[in-house]
Amino acid sequence: MSETRNVIIIGSGPAGYTAAVYAARANLAPLVFEGAVTAGGALMNTTEVENFPGFRDGIQGPALMDEMRAQAERFGAELVADDVIEVDLTGDIKVVKTEEGTFTAKAVILAMGSGYKKLGNPDEDRLSGHGVSWCATCDGFFFREQHIAVVGGGDSAVEEATFLSRFGSKVTLIVRRDELRASKIMAERAFADPKIEIAWNSAVETIHGDEKLTGVTLKDTVTGETRELDATGLFIAIGHDPRSELLPGQVDLDDEGYVLAEGRSTRTNLPGVFACGDLVDHTYRQAITAAGSGCAAALDAERYLADLE
Ligand code: FAD
Repeated sequence: MSETRNVIIIGSGPAGYTAAVYAARANLAPLVFEGAVTAGGALMNTTEVENFPGFRDGIQGPALMDEMRAQAERFGAELVADDVIEVDLTGDIKVVKTEEGTFTAKAVILAMGSGYKKLGNPDEDRLSGHGVSWCATCDGFFFREQHIAVVGGGDSAVEEATFLSRFGSKVTLIVRRDELRASKIMAERAFADPKIEIAWNSAVETIHGDEKLTGVTLKDTVTGETRELDATGLFIAIGHDPRSELLPGQVDLDDEGYVLAEGRSTRTNLPGVFACGDLVDHTYRQAITAAGSGCAAALDAERYLADLE
């Protein structure tokens, strides 16, 4: 086992890299586990990011993450592209395991993000950033005066559809059943919006387009009949899965698996364990909010370590 570090950061999206920049600049020499195949986080799967402050002409998602990574490295963060496979965070010395070995630290920052639930259609990843999106706040602006489809029947799908109707010429909400799961008030807002149409009892069967989305085939979930939708934007809003599978039994999670943090801090129920980014965030789920909470986690960890001395 290697020497006990000050802090280990698990995750390498905007939250993890920002925590790494702050921890490294505080001379804490953080060790960052970035993940084996997904280093860089969710923005590695997108194209243009136009809402991260500081880039007035926008920046490609992977380029933004390369910059954050290089910035963390410049100040001495040690970055390792491995998955953490097991943790014991309950003692004063935290234990973190990868396939390569066992590592220990006085503090741990959890920044594993949350995955958008996918339809399971082979073309959704291929056309991600080219018409297919999981985030209306991020990408709605790209679909001005276009026909936009939104998949899902819960609150977030209805909220996305209502938000997107500001941009699109028309929004079709694709709902598997013959009713919405969304709250009454959200549903009424959608029913009252002249730009929103609802495709009841419908599921996405095929996603079309070579370079860009050109349309989708819908299948009626009752009759099995299919029909074409000429949408050029497809927003998938069927939920999120926080990547907290290492944590049950140790770190307190809410009913949906998000890490619970104390008040406005990043402190978890375990002393010396901090959580940030989309792993704790039901609401905002933006690169800038994840980066902001990564900063807060590093500052919280720094204070915790100072109090140990
Ligand atoms: P993530 O970026 O998800 O990073 C988590 C990291 O943790 C990943 O690298 C993962 O590999 C790693 N990890 C997980 N488990 C482990 C483990 N066991 N061991 C080691 N590492 C692990 N936001 C915007 O502000 N603007 C946009 O334009 C925008 N566009 C988006 C487009 C797409 C297609 C998507 C999916 C999201 C977009 N977002 C956008 C949202 C934004 O990407 C997220 O809010 C943000 O990335 C969350 O940051 P995070 O650091 O919390 O998590």
